[in-house]
Amino acid sequence: MYLELRQLDVQYPGQKTPAVHGVSLALRAGDIGVLIGPSGCGKTTLLRAVAGLEPVSAGQMVLNGRVVSDAAHTEPAENRRIGMVFQDHALFPHMDVGRNVAFGLAHLPPPERAQRVREVLELVGLGGQQARFAHELSGGQQQRVALARALAPQPALLLLDEPFSNLDVDLRERLANEVRSILKAAQATALLVTHDQFEAFAMGDTIGVLNEGRLHQWDNAYSLYHRPATRFVANFIGHGVFLPASLRQDHGQTVASTPLGDLSDASALPMAAPENELCDVLLRADDIVHDDAAPVKAQIIRKTFRGSEFLYTLQLHSGEQLMAHVPSHHDHHLGEWIGIRAEVEHVVTFLRDSAPVKP
Ligand code: ADP
Repeated sequence: MYLELRQLDVQYPGQKTPAVHGVSLALRAGDIGVLIGPSGCGKTTLLRAVAGLEPVSAGQMVLNGRVVSDAAHTEPAENRRIGMVFQDHALFPHMDVGRNVAFGLAHLPPPERAQRVREVLELVGLGGQQARFAHELSGGQQQRVALARALAPQPALLLLDEPFSNLDVDLRERLANEVRSILKAAQATALLVTHDQFEAFAMGDTIGVLNEGRLHQWDNAYSLYHRPATRFVANFIGHGVFLPASLRQDHGQTVASTPLGDLSDASALPMAAPENELCDVLLRADDIVHDDAAPVKAQIIRKTFRGSEFLYTLQLHSGEQLMAHVPSHHDHHLGEWIGIRAEVEHVVTFLRDSAPVKP
């Protein structure tokens, strides 16, 4: 593993609890890791600790085979060969693009420096733009210059802190995809912080969900969505609701009986609840299928048009609410009762008595 955090704690002086607590994760060379979580969950603190800007109070950080942080020692940021990109990209507006990108290359002889500037500008799609001034560029172009500047000295690790959050939504999505391609082309190992899950999905090979300083899951996007390790992850990633269910064993299979009928899944998460115990089953909007022939009916209490589909909020007779994606040519009225059934590929259950955590 290229970057490894082992049971890392970061505690600010004078604080009773650590801002980051017991975080372990590993990132392979060339991979992009993403840290996501609500405001105040410790993302920036963790990124600053990785950069060497914040000491750790317990645990170990290993970068490329060397321990760079532990409770007794913090290798200074400048020795870690880390590149950083921030949301306010902090280019020097009075310098041209070439000088901005050459900023970390003072150690190279001028011809090599110019060559490296040409290479990285080419890489970020701004070939030949050396002479333009930073203030003449669009927000997206400025962010790509910032990326070129960070990549130019070939950092061992690139850290990106909310790099797209000052850009408008359309640009943000496009740039997230572009930046991923650029990082892959540069074979860079990177760790990105964001609060936006679409950005996390667009960028990350592995995504870590943090809450209150703890890492709840470090996994790929598919597993976070379909196999959330905790209620917090289930709530934070994607649309979903919990329905009450009870579990029983049937011919060696665990079956969850729910207001929508029985659900079973041979590869279900270890179903925590013993037989007959009440649990909650996670139902995503894409687990609910609209079917006029279904015996279970639900009333539409809210609907949001999303182009190819509606996101309906539905209420069962029993009062339980659900969400469903329905193709947008099925345009039903608010208040209408429609037939629904569950088509769940991954049944995820949580014990009832572990109180739900809201993001
Ligand atoms: P995020 O980046 O996820 O919004 P932060 O890492 O900035 O979260 O903050 C995590 C926690 O640490 C918060 O409770 C915050 O108030 C606290 N914190 C951040 N910086 C400091 C600091 N310099 N001194 C004391 N507490 C801090």
